Amino acid sequence: MIQLFIPLNFLGFVYREIRQALVSIERMFRLLETNEAVVDAPDAVPLQPDGGELRFDSVAFGYQPERTILRDLNFTVHPGQTVAIVGPSGAGKSTIARLLFRFYDVNEGRILINGQDIRDVTQESLRRAIGVVPQDTVLFNESIYYNIAYGRPDAPREAVLDAARRANLQGFIDRLPDGYDTRVGERGLKVSGGEKQRIAIARMLLKDPPILILDEATSALDSHSEQAVLAALAAATVRRTTLAIAHRLSTIMNADAILVLDQGRVVEQGTHVQLLAAGGLYHALWQQQQHSLDRDASEQGRAD
Ligand code: ATP
Repeated sequence: MIQLFIPLNFLGFVYREIRQALVSIERMFRLLETNEAVVDAPDAVPLQPDGGELRFDSVAFGYQPERTILRDLNFTVHPGQTVAIVGPSGAGKSTIARLLFRFYDVNEGRILINGQDIRDVTQESLRRAIGVVPQDTVLFNESIYYNIAYGRPDAPREAVLDAARRANLQGFIDRLPDGYDTRVGERGLKVSGGEKQRIAIARMLLKDPPILILDEATSALDSHSEQAVLAALAAATVRRTTLAIAHRLSTIMNADAILVLDQGRVVEQGTHVQLLAAGGLYHALWQQQQHSLDRDASEQGRAD
């Protein structure tokens, strides 16, 4: 009986581990649409990211050979800087993030981190150096603590609490019935979009990578939630080389540089103020967004 019990118990453990891994992998695939064909070079070396300088050097890419998505893409993000990529839907913004994570290889040109071509380094070291705050964060049907520590489960409790504080989650957690032990999910606590984003930021702070990809949410948050997320993002980008894929322009106004992408090319670049003054595509996107915010506000007013 004991002999039977141990394997069953062990199998239960294995099943839970595998299920957890599959959930994570499945979601990762959906998030970044990985390509299993990318493998380490036989002589791949570990990435030495240091400050995390990031360079796209004449990059061209298409998912299919007959359809080029990115063309002659050149930009550098200096260590610690934040560069935002904006542009119309389908311009290729998320594709840039997928290439940096090396879910696909470029067709032409190179992507360099601190001077190393990412095709020459091990994928494990590359992915360790890059943190992602995705559009839609996956939460597990577990405690808030588990959800923050996920990705670094061996982290000391103090580090988990510190990450939560820096991600501006403390007030939210203080209001929960069981604090950090409150269960999230189906029968547990419902978590708003803004809170989910801050949990993702806390996870990333705990991982502490030198490079950060922010894939910012499309859906507008209410202004209180937006302020809380913006404060958490400010903490997240400090001393980190950040590539912000922006769908909501309000969150990238303070970026060191903004690249405006259209049909796979950079058509404008500059700061928020410079780009507004230039009166080009960025200006048009900004106006469009202001109109839709005004419309949402007046619809909200009618509903109240
Ligand atoms: P959005 O703001 O709507 O998220 P985006 O600028 O991030 O858009 P991408 O997701 O990078 O755009 O997509 C760029 C183009 O590549 C689109 O035309 C899209 O249909 C195409 N595309 C994206 N993923 C794939 C894929 N896995 N296979 C083939 N084509 C793809």
